[in-house]
Amino acid sequence: MGTTWRVRNGNRKVLGGSGRVVPTTEDLKESRSRASSRASPSLGTSTPQQHSNTFSQNPATSGPNPHESADGAKCIASEIVVWTEATDVDAMSVDSPRSPSPALELEPEVGPEQELVAESEIKSEAESEHVASPSPPPSPEPPAMLDPLPSPPPASPQIIAPTIPPPLAVALSSSGSSLSVTSEHSDLSSVPESQSSKATTPVDVDSCKEAAAPVPQVISQPQPSSAPRRRYDVRPKVSLPTDLPLAEYAVQCIAAAEASRLNPYYLHEEEYVMLRDHISHTQVTTYLNIRNGILRLWVRNPQIAVTREEAVGCAKDTRWFDVASVCFDWLVRRGFINFGCVEIRSARKQSIKESPSARKRKTIVVLGAGMSGLGCARQLEGLFLQYSKKFRDRGEDPPMVVVLEGRNRLGGRVYSKAFKTRPKNIPEAFKDKRFTAEMGGMIITGFDRGNPLNILLRGQLGLPYRPLRPDTTLYDSAGKPVDPVRDQLVESLYNDCLDRVSEYKFKQPPSKLIEGNRDLIDEGKDSAAETHKTIRQTEEAAAAQPHAPPVSEQNIAPQVNLVPISTDRATGRIHTEPGTPGALRAARKAKLMGWSLKQGVSEDADLDFEPATKQPDATLGSVTDSVMAQYKDLVDLTAQDYRLMNWHVANLEYSNATNYHQLSLQGWDIDAGNEWEGSHTMVVGGYQSVPRGLMHLPTPLDVRQKSPVSKITYSTDGSSRMAMVECEDGFRVEADYVVNTIPLGVLKHGSIQFDPPLPSWKQNAIDRLGFGVLNKVILVYKEPFWDMSRDIFGVLRMPTNRNSLDQKDYASQRGRFFQWFNVTETSGLPVLLALMAGDAGFDTEQTCNDDLVAEATTILRGVYGETKVPDPVETVVTRWASDKFARGSYSSAGPNMKADDYDTMARPIGNLFFAGEHTSGTHPATVHGAYLSGLRAASEVLDVMLGPIEVPTPLIIPKETSQSLKRKVAESKDPVRAQAEAYEIELWDYIVAQIGLRPLAPSRPATNAYVFYSKAHHEDARRKCEEGRRPGKGKASANEVRVMSAKMWRDATEETKAPFMKLAEEQKQVHAGAMAAWKEEGAAWDRKATELKVKYEAEHPPPPPAGSASLEEEGRRSKKRVESYAESEVSDIEME
Ligand SMILES: Cc1cc2nc3c(=O)[nH]c(=O)nc-3n(C[C@H](O)[C@H](O)[C@H](O)COP(=O)(O)OP(=O)(O)OC[C@H]3O[C@@H](n4cnc5c(N)ncnc54)[C@H](O)[C@@H]3O)c2cc1C
Repeated sequence: MGTTWRVRNGNRKVLGGSGRVVPTTEDLKESRSRASSRASPSLGTSTPQQHSNTFSQNPATSGPNPHESADGAKCIASEIVVWTEATDVDAMSVDSPRSPSPALELEPEVGPEQELVAESEIKSEAESEHVASPSPPPSPEPPAMLDPLPSPPPASPQIIAPTIPPPLAVALSSSGSSLSVTSEHSDLSSVPESQSSKATTPVDVDSCKEAAAPVPQVISQPQPSSAPRRRYDVRPKVSLPTDLPLAEYAVQCIAAAEASRLNPYYLHEEEYVMLRDHISHTQVTTYLNIRNGILRLWVRNPQIAVTREEAVGCAKDTRWFDVASVCFDWLVRRGFINFGCVEIRSARKQSIKESPSARKRKTIVVLGAGMSGLGCARQLEGLFLQYSKKFRDRGEDPPMVVVLEGRNRLGGRVYSKAFKTRPKNIPEAFKDKRFTAEMGGMIITGFDRGNPLNILLRGQLGLPYRPLRPDTTLYDSAGKPVDPVRDQLVESLYNDCLDRVSEYKFKQPPSKLIEGNRDLIDEGKDSAAETHKTIRQTEEAAAAQPHAPPVSEQNIAPQVNLVPISTDRATGRIHTEPGTPGALRAARKAKLMGWSLKQGVSEDADLDFEPATKQPDATLGSVTDSVMAQYKDLVDLTAQDYRLMNWHVANLEYSNATNYHQLSLQGWDIDAGNEWEGSHTMVVGGYQSVPRGLMHLPTPLDVRQKSPVSKITYSTDGSSRMAMVECEDGFRVEADYVVNTIPLGVLKHGSIQFDPPLPSWKQNAIDRLGFGVLNKVILVYKEPFWDMSRDIFGVLRMPTNRNSLDQKDYASQRGRFFQWFNVTETSGLPVLLALMAGDAGFDTEQTCNDDLVAEATTILRGVYGETKVPDPVETVVTRWASDKFARGSYSSAGPNMKADDYDTMARPIGNLFFAGEHTSGTHPATVHGAYLSGLRAASEVLDVMLGPIEVPTPLIIPKETSQSLKRKVAESKDPVRAQAEAYEIELWDYIVAQIGLRPLAPSRPATNAYVFYSKAHHEDARRKCEEGRRPGKGKASANEVRVMSAKMWRDATEETKAPFMKLAEEQKQVHAGAMAAWKEEGAAWDRKATELKVKYEAEHPPPPPAGSASLEEEGRRSKKRVESYAESEVSDIEME
């Protein structure tokens, strides 16, 4: 086929049959433009974002790269990169070596007949061990741990491909470096996706797991192995800013942990498992300070990987260096830092230096180039680069990663389809952009509190995006806007129905909470206390006491029930809050909502939906319908109320891509509580830029498009047997490990053969989980005729039987064109996008485009007037269920699902790993969930290849005398630095011996009047909560009591509040006095210390300066800071 692959310095050129050259990485680098003009407010704060100024800048006008390294080497990812149409060119070109390269193909979409979208056009249709001084002895064998998988095979990866062009076959089947089609890429680690993103330390509860499903411990709970002690060419605190008060630094660290899905005050479950034999409870605080400090470095500039050196520099004492290093490994491997399109410079430099002698090299084949597949492949590349030395020490080259994708495009269910229509005048923001609409994934559900897309999209790719204005107008079927008061009333009733049904939800497993000292963490201080009992020893000692709980029940968080409080109109997701489901009697609750009870109905009247829940085929739909029907007997519900209620049901069916009669009563919102915060947003010019960014930055991944996989042969038994992936055209690839991200719909369809067949525990989970359809009808107009001040509007639909008060009559109609998005600002053209949810989604697959467009037009004319709505100039209708590479839209909790089915989907079998949105129990059916699952799978593969994180013993060197410290620093390899450090220690010892330690600041008392009030009225609040409760619902949860206290405070008279205000004021004054005294004492101490220092230095002159400043001051991280890209109120307003 005339395709030639050449590999030089990691950059690949593909010569197509036409002899044209597809742009290489270097070309891409050249064409990337900078968005360094973005605002860079400080981390975690709400500051204006200049969304629009990140739009396509002309590459030619890009300024000099601010990240030129000392040796002049260019560092691409250190700029915020903006994807432009120009950069998309390569992304859209078919990058398969097996197809004569259609270079510079702009829109290589919908090739195969299987593509999902039916169009109709009406008019025209690390591990760089750069720190380790004496390298640890090479370990020829991988550490023997709980590795269930085959040991590394002696043979190198092979492509058995009679149909592939000879040069590629040669390249891929040779074991040496000559083949390295991928070669140097970068990126990194992964997240334990099966665990809640809620930052707690959940206990591993296996009770509900299907008996036959083996749990490979190496993945869920890495057991640390002991490592030789490293030596670090770093000084303590070198990564701490010198220009920031400690308390402010602490605020930034806490915010960074929260932005990384970790609780700043608690150990994550894996950290607990990793450290419980190595640190004590009191040492948890110092560990958390270091961990949060490393996260701060990452969050402040995610364009450059954090190095081990920088991480270790977050420790304030050399004794903690190994702890920081272990923490760094954990954060890297689990994808909390150094993930996405990040430049890993030091490791890259090192890997370039090493000789490329021919050595064995393993292959990982990732199936599917959606967000999970690309995320996983990118992560693996990064991990292999960072841990390249580990592979080399074993006599191997870092493994290669190949992605096989069935379609002729990237992104899978993230697909921004380009319109044929062009605007008369191209808006400035779209100069280098495509005019697209989102066929699949569209809304980013908030960037705050740990969404990895925040780092990817805003911190690394610098993509322009637009917050969705949440205001929604609901139009009734006759086109009249619904009265907002009535709308609110009905929505409350609907939420109450879901609240009552929540009682039957799966109970979340209890979480283990190992907490640091919150006060010290808030102040950025480490714990001075030293206890020698490790966490395990303390737990076991406690468990040995008479009548004491076992270790597994110690430090357990109280069980929290989440109850629905509101509905998200843009996504259909239910917002929840801790509470007691169905606490109040229905009539009383209805009254509190503002409903009038029917005549003769007492406040004690209640609903009985136990019979509905007892039905063997009970679903969310069947039980909710029963609750609604019974409410009809308590309050007067009109046909319009039913239409409204069913609009909300359609919204819920949208978020689950199926009729709610197909949803599990127990599991329908299994992901509750994991929502991000911040505005919902959409990417301007197409969400697909994100998968394209993952594909290309910082160096291109090896993705073979048009390679539909038909068979996967894998090994289950831990032998060294290679896996084999076969494509429909006979192309075959041998792999050491396979990561399967093929959608659940395709797995359900059975079109991919597994050899051996998937075990029943996996197959049963595939069968039990749901995979439904959400479709879209997209209409392009010449001019907007709708309300451009809104991004969303809804339309209530008539039931089949007009004025019906029977839920059955609403099911087929409620989801038809029920929700409309005005996507003009993100598409660049006047475009409306309508959703077809629930039964309507399935119906769309069978209805012809003309009928759908006619129905849409009728609805719009009903809302905006007959004459105002013209025919659209272009339309696109999605049919995801007919797409052979998706077979539906996204996963849901099928009626028979088990609590751990998503985790079961994630569980590997031998050398076959799984990722994809359907493997994420915490964020299923989403783009971010898919991406996180890719990080998780990459982490699992690395753990299996390298073994678990090695933890030196003892992890923390016992406290020593300054004499022994002096000896140690003197032994370090930099004599000047060692001398300086020893001198500082002597000086410090001298000062403390003379005048003692500097006085500590007085602790801050409570100075908030409300805090005093709520303490004093806690019992009243609890009693009020429990008034009118249903039997068995007596106890109010802590959150309910808090909410009630807040309400009571709001309602309290000035007279009631006065004593608490007075108390608060007094406390403030006492504290102010104590602070003033402390400042004086501190100043006096400082003066004396300075005098003593001068005296000591005069008597003992200091050594020449070591010449090392804070890494932050001097280092690359400070040269380019993305201080924050957090969402902000202000930014939203600006966009409007
Ligand atoms: C209509 C719709 C609206 C959505 N809206 C949102 C939203 O607003 N927000 C949100 O967060 N999420 C949304 N989602 C969900 C989100 O798009 C998906 O959860 C996510 O993109 C899934 O990513 P993935 O990598 O798991 O799967 P995919 O993106 O499907 O990737 C799997 C890849 O495997 C490939 N493949 C399939 N079969 C084969 C084969 N035999 N051989 C080789 N390759 C194969 C596919 O072509 C595909 O590229 C929406 C989805 C749809 C369909």
